[in-house]
Amino acid sequence: MKDVVLLTTKTCSYCKMAKDFLAQNHIQYIEKDINFDAEARNELARRNINGVPTFFIGDDVVVGLDKAKILELVDHRIVECPNCHAKLRVPTNKGAINVRCPKCKSSVASH
Ligand SMILES: [Zn+2]
Repeated sequence: MKDVVLLTTKTCSYCKMAKDFLAQNHIQYIEKDINFDAEARNELARRNINGVPTFFIGDDVVVGLDKAKILELVDHRIVECPNCHAKLRVPTNKGAINVRCPKCKSSVASH
């Protein structure tokens, strides 16, 4: 599954919207604040991007909160185990599947 990395700054209101959007769509992501993460900042500079929010989704880059594009590129969603409430990341490109909870071993429907 592709990792989702969200590059933000604390003062950017679109970044807040981006995080709300990812949460609403049950997408797991790693947040990097470019004011504190020099590596993330350099990565943006290397790609000639000078704005946040920017999303790295697998090998793809989305600049700005392009919701349709993000949903198209992300290949997983977060499902909560009904038994132990562990958060599981399940693929969205395999239709309805059952995954086994790594914690309590119960079977969890992917949607
Ligand atoms: Zn469980």
